[in-house]
Amino acid sequence: MKRTAAIFLLLLFSGCAALENVVRDFNLVSVSEEKEISDKMAKEISQKMNIVKDAQMNGRVNSIGERLLKVLPNKEFDYQFFVIEDKTPNAFTIPGGKIYVHTGLLTFVDNDSELAGVLAHEIGHAAERHPVKNLSRAYGAGYLVSLLTGGDPNNQLKVMAINLATGSALLKYSRSDELEADEIGFELVCRSGSGTQGLPNFLKKLQSLQTSGRQITFLSTHPATADRIRRLEGMKC
Ligand code: ZN
Repeated sequence: MKRTAAIFLLLLFSGCAALENVVRDFNLVSVSEEKEISDKMAKEISQKMNIVKDAQMNGRVNSIGERLLKVLPNKEFDYQFFVIEDKTPNAFTIPGGKIYVHTGLLTFVDNDSELAGVLAHEIGHAAERHPVKNLSRAYGAGYLVSLLTGGDPNNQLKVMAINLATGSALLKYSRSDELEADEIGFELVCRSGSGTQGLPNFLKKLQSLQTSGRQITFLSTHPATADRIRRLEGMKC
């Protein structure tokens, strides 16, 4: 019996140690390192993808984004918004507060409230540092930092940037990250007066598109859709 108990305790403690390492590992990437990762990834995205210069499209995204950022407390990053020429209705966020919106999303939304809902949700992910947390979970925080200090000879940060941009399954958000981003996003649309039904309406439209057989990257990288719609529709300002 004693031997069994000892083995159980050993397993229990080794389990705890592993968990502690994971938590500590996430925190190994500092905010300044995240900003450095952000700049390197943004450079890669600007070279590999078609960043739209159109003043009207950029003006629309930036004015809605700025209105949301005005009511975000404790901004750790210099948030930036970019529009990418791509017909699919997607948006994604890389570490360091850089948010990318496809032209296909701008035409897919019915109004500014839907666009505000999506941008507020992405700002929520950025503010909680979910993108760098995902990268740390997938590749290891120590490895990420080593790419900055070691010069990244195999261009791994570039690969990671493209994985984020294309919605690699490896980098999808966890359910708890989704709920957190929804809560922050909801606060932002409430406080900025951007309309609270934008995000649930947008998600419902994407869901029906998916039902008709289309692969929707936004839904696979931001999972738990039905549950989230229910929660979002029940929230009150
Ligand atoms: Zn999300």
